[in-house]
Amino acid sequence: MALFAVIGLGSFGATVATQLMSLKHEVIGIDLNKKYVESISDELTHAVIADATDEHVLDELNVQNCEAVVVAIGEDIEASILCVLHLKNMGVKKIWAKSKSKAHHMILTHLGVDKIIHPEEDMGVRIAQSLSYPMVSRYMALEDNRYLVKIEIHTEQSGIKLNQLMDHASEIKTILHKRGPVVQYILDPHLILKEGDILLVEGLLEPLRRLSKHFKNL
Ligand code: ATP
Repeated sequence: MALFAVIGLGSFGATVATQLMSLKHEVIGIDLNKKYVESISDELTHAVIADATDEHVLDELNVQNCEAVVVAIGEDIEASILCVLHLKNMGVKKIWAKSKSKAHHMILTHLGVDKIIHPEEDMGVRIAQSLSYPMVSRYMALEDNRYLVKIEIHTEQSGIKLNQLMDHASEIKTILHKRGPVVQYILDPHLILKEGDILLVEGLLEPLRRLSKHFKNL
């Protein structure tokens, strides 16, 4: 059993953190976003709302004693770089970082990051991570970057109309709705979703990711 830290608990970071926990490791999760931290806090050894670009914060959290630190911040390249710099200065043994672009990759290489992860390029890994939200219970990769995804409606989405949910990703096609034993293929956009309902949707990865994020924020 080893101690790890995962910085950035978006879909990628949260997946890495929970996977490490399921492998019986200890994991400190850090994110600026209170909602992300709260949604995962029961599953991690320690989950903290903090700015990982602040070296004092990293110091207080004892990340230097971790076997490895995973920097799972992608969008905010500056934050990712600053955080890696501090981790390097603190003498963290192993740093893995997520990269979103070629420039980001180059900078991380120069900083001496041990492993650079490109979730966007590895389709198998990417879909698992991108869609690793609790409501996605199954998915199947079709051709041309299209996926078929089974979604389970939880309490948070209960009471929402189907069109309210799908408006966030109008490119996604809802193929069926199942409530108990009843399956419907022609769907009323005003259908009010209930906990336990199943939706089967199909679409490209990007809109599916958007839909996943919307679900997560409900
Ligand atoms: P994913 O695809 O994994 O959901 P993303 O690429 O959409 O990630 P990112 O911008 O990479 O999102 O951010 C991942 C997480 O990192 C977010 O939850 C964000 O709140 C967190 N984050 C960003 N900056 C910091 C920071 N300075 N300190 C701590 N967490 C941060």
